[in-house]
Amino acid sequence: MDTSYILNHLGEDRDEYYGAVAPPVFQTTNFCFKTVSEMREKLKHELETPFYTRGYNPTVAILRKKLAALEKAEDALVFSSGSAAVAAAVMSVVKAGDHVVCVQKPYSWTNTLISKYLVKYGVTHTYVNGADVANFQNAIQPNTKLIYLESPNSLTFELQDIEAIATFARSKNITTIIDNSYCSPINQTPIALGVDMVLHSATKYLNGHSDVMAGVVCGTKERIMKMMAEEYMTLGSIISAHHAALILRGLRTLELRMNKSAESAKKVTEYLEKHPKITKVNYPFSADNPQLALAKKQMKQGGGLFSIVLKAEKVEQVEKFCDSLKYFLMATSWGSYESLIFPTCALGASKSFENPLPWNFVRVYIGLEDADLLIEDLKQALEKI
Ligand SMILES: *Cc1c(COP(=O)(O)O)cnc(C)c1O
Repeated sequence: MDTSYILNHLGEDRDEYYGAVAPPVFQTTNFCFKTVSEMREKLKHELETPFYTRGYNPTVAILRKKLAALEKAEDALVFSSGSAAVAAAVMSVVKAGDHVVCVQKPYSWTNTLISKYLVKYGVTHTYVNGADVANFQNAIQPNTKLIYLESPNSLTFELQDIEAIATFARSKNITTIIDNSYCSPINQTPIALGVDMVLHSATKYLNGHSDVMAGVVCGTKERIMKMMAEEYMTLGSIISAHHAALILRGLRTLELRMNKSAESAKKVTEYLEKHPKITKVNYPFSADNPQLALAKKQMKQGGGLFSIVLKAEKVEQVEKFCDSLKYFLMATSWGSYESLIFPTCALGASKSFENPLPWNFVRVYIGLEDADLLIEDLKQALEKI
C-alpha cells in the first residue's frame, strides 16, 4: 500500500463524523446503547467496537490502522509509552519456565525487563552478540520461546541480519520481536523479512514532536487480539484519544521528516568522519562500517541518530565541546524536530545505564534544522576541545 495514502487517508472514515477532515478526538470513556439487545450484541465484540475506551476508542482505532499498514502488519496496539509496548509484547510471548535470547545492549529499560523483572517470574535469558546469526543458533535452549532484536540499537548501532534470524527462529517455532524505533517503518519493515512482532517507541519518530509518550506493537490479528485480551486490557497501559490525535498529526509528515533527518545526518556524519578531533563515528551507513552491506540490504537509509567518540585527554574537554554547542539541545530521547546531544560523561549514578560507555562518547541526533547550520555549530564547538 502506498505510504502517502496510509499517512494521509487510510482508516479515516470521514462519513462517520460529518466529513470532518481532521479526525475528531473521541474524548469519552464509554459508549451508550438504546436497547439491551444492541448492548448485548456490542459486548460480543467489546474489543473491536466502541464500548469502553480502555478497549476501543475510534480515534485510537484510526491510529492503529495506519501503524499496522505502515509495518505491513494485520493489526497494531498503541500503548502509553514505548516501554509499555516492549513489556506487553515480551510478556505476551513468555511464561514461567521459558527462555529468551536477546541481542546484547538493547534499550536500557528493555534490558531491565529481561534481566531483572522477568527473572522474578521464572523467565531466563541469554544475551548474544547480534553480529553473527550463529550466536543466536548456539544460544537457544529447548525452552527458548522468544528471540528479541533491536537492529540497530540506539547507542552503538550494531545490526542483526533480520531475515536470517527470523528464518531460523521460524524453523524452531520461536517467536521473534524487534524494536524498530531507530528506522521507523519508512526505513525498515521487519515483518516483510519474516519477523513476528514489530514494536516502536512512538515517542521518537512516529510522533516526532517531543510532546507525546507512546508505544506501538504490530503483528498478526491473532497475536494482537490475544495480547489485547491479556496484557493490554489487564495492565491497562493504553493511550488517550488526545495523544492518539497528536500522533496522527505527527504521522502526516513522517516520511518528510525521516528523509530530511537522514539526508542531514549523512552530511553531518561525512563531515565528522574527516574531523581530526573525532576518533570514531558509529553510524549504520558510514563508509567504514563493517556492517554497511547488511545495512544497505535491510534498511532504506540511515536514521538521524549516531554516536561519536571524541579525541580528548580529559573529561573537561568533552564538557567544553558539549557546553559550546548553540543549536544542539542537551537532552535524552531523539526522533523529533530538534537536534540533540547526549554525552555519556553526564551519566553519574543513572539508574538506566548499567554499562557506561566511554566518557568521551557522545550520542548525536540530527533533527530538522539545516545541516550546514548544524555543521557550523559542531565545527566551532570542536575547535574548543
Ligand atoms: C525510547 C526508546 C524506548 C522506550 O520508549 P519510551 O517511549 O521512552 O517508553 C524503547 N526502545 C528504544 C530503541 C528507544 O529509543
